[in-house]
Amino acid sequence: MDAAEILFIVALAVLLGWSLAVAISRGRAIDRLREATGATDSDDVEKKVREALEHAEDAHWQAEQTSHDTDYLTELLTAGVVRLRDDLTVEFANGAAHVMLERRPGSMAGRSALEAFVDARIEVIARTAMDFGAANGELTVRSSSGATVTVRARRSPVSGVWLVLEDVSELRRLQRIRAEFIDNLSHELRTPLTTISLLAETAARDAESASPRLRDRIAKIEIETGHLIQMINELLDLSRIESGTVQLLLDDVDLVKLARTTAERLRMFAERQGLRIDLDLPDRVSPVRGDEDRLGQVLVNLLHNAVKFSPDGGRIVVGVREDPGEIRVWVRDPGIGVPRADLARIFERFYKVDRARVRGRGGTGLGLSIARHVVESHGGRIWAESEEGSGSTFILVIPLAPADTAPEASGPQAG
Ligand code: ADP
Repeated sequence: MDAAEILFIVALAVLLGWSLAVAISRGRAIDRLREATGATDSDDVEKKVREALEHAEDAHWQAEQTSHDTDYLTELLTAGVVRLRDDLTVEFANGAAHVMLERRPGSMAGRSALEAFVDARIEVIARTAMDFGAANGELTVRSSSGATVTVRARRSPVSGVWLVLEDVSELRRLQRIRAEFIDNLSHELRTPLTTISLLAETAARDAESASPRLRDRIAKIEIETGHLIQMINELLDLSRIESGTVQLLLDDVDLVKLARTTAERLRMFAERQGLRIDLDLPDRVSPVRGDEDRLGQVLVNLLHNAVKFSPDGGRIVVGVREDPGEIRVWVRDPGIGVPRADLARIFERFYKVDRARVRGRGGTGLGLSIARHVVESHGGRIWAESEEGSGSTFILVIPLAPADTAPEASGPQAG
């Protein structure tokens, strides 16, 4: 045998071996496909594989459709929508987001959050949401428009973070105008009302020998002027508290002493209605860090309501107690009570329970809203417990060492 023959035989053997290997592996592959698809024979395998391919194509088409729809929908929104990947690079940002942050159209995708927003504050909000699941913030954009934008960030259940930006400049401008209007109006009204109140007081003194009818009328003028002055003061207070211009003047406050002096201040008012104010006070409690005037104002509001919403005669109790880490103060009255459905709502501004049932005793509906603002700004909480028809207890709790957790209005707040 010459070399050419040997080479021919070897090549033939290799070819045979290769064909055999291909056939075996194809057979195995078909077996595996049959197992995976549950097919009965090789024709069935082919059918099932074709079906699977069609499904995959359908799914791919639907995914593309959903993605187009999402893009289209987000372009229709006036809110800015941004999606960040886990590494905080921008995967997607709609047109409104570019307009709001004054970025060139399409320039945000692919950049890191910091590069895309050119604002570390938004990046911090996104990072906080990544770590805690959710975060919110409000900021003034550093651009020519100086727009005020709220940012809500939520971690996606799958991956990354979604940000929704809303331009609230107009809303904030209107809120400012409203606050200024209330402020100016209240100031303008307060001066003549105070004068009327003083004149009524003088007239009451001068009319000591006048007819009972005249004295009664003067007394009514005094009472109604008092109501008006209280309403004006509450409006002024709330607008200041809400606009954040009220600073707490912090000092050590003895809540037992404060409860006692407030009860004294309102005793005459209560007695005119045949109501007694009893005190349930310990000798002493630890002082809280707070603004004495503001906390006193809360107690006046609660006691005032207790008198206003109680029938003539009966007993109001003002109590104070020291619990671990906090001081609890309560005002209990035997009055008309608050329906269960209204218990949480009475702390909203201007909210009054069924105006008809308290005709003639109405105020502005602002007292409890102010009380809640004040108590919460001391790191405390306030709530009411009541059975309609059998009295109410208003309870407030002030922590002894207020945790330094009150978040800044504009800073990111983990949600
Ligand atoms: P105002 O007393 O000026 O109406 P508040 O904010 O102080 O406003 O109270 C809101 C509402 O809550 C009241 O109008 C009243 O319906 C209800 N309320 C408050 N305190 C009491 C109370 N002690 N007993 C019954 N209802 C009360």
